[in-house]
Amino acid sequence: MAQQLSNSIVVRAYDTAGVPADTIEQAHVIVAELLDQAGISATWRDCQTPDGPMSRSQDRCDDTLSARELVVRIVVPAPRSISDSEALGYSHVDPAVHRGTLATVFADRVRELAHQLQILEGTLLGRAITHEIGHMLLGTLNHSESGLMRGHWSSRGRTADWMFSSVEASSMRDGVNARVPGVFAMTGVQLSETRK
Ligand SMILES: [Zn+2]
Repeated sequence: MAQQLSNSIVVRAYDTAGVPADTIEQAHVIVAELLDQAGISATWRDCQTPDGPMSRSQDRCDDTLSARELVVRIVVPAPRSISDSEALGYSHVDPAVHRGTLATVFADRVRELAHQLQILEGTLLGRAITHEIGHMLLGTLNHSESGLMRGHWSSRGRTADWMFSSVEASSMRDGVNARVPGVFAMTGVQLSETRK
């Protein structure tokens, strides 16, 4: 139990894309599974939005962001500033402290790729969100050659292609445990983005 608590994070999800509730729920399950395989327990918060399915959420998410909370926005369309037409999302990672707190995932591109790969939209959405969480916890914009942190997702792949490596998992747990109250700072400067 103590182990679980020490490796736990909270994901504040804001769906402004109007993704159906059951798809969000499936994504949530995938995020929890993939992080659990990495030894990290994730609590999901459906944050209330002005419109769409999440407007029915009672969680306004207006309390102060704690050190181990991450914000994930699900949006459409992908902004024009993202030139890579295959990018499913991006994360902000502060290179000074090697961590990130805000990620964005593009619901329309996830839906399109899910159709191409013939996998469930919620499954791919969960994987895309977990990939961005990986960037934020690893504190790097780098991609790996294989596994969930690889940069190109054009093939359906095997189960191992959608998992963190043991080295990444260990590094992510360290990243979680380094997030202690008082050290957290979202500086708003030196932010950079990554593209899948
Ligand atoms: Zn990436």
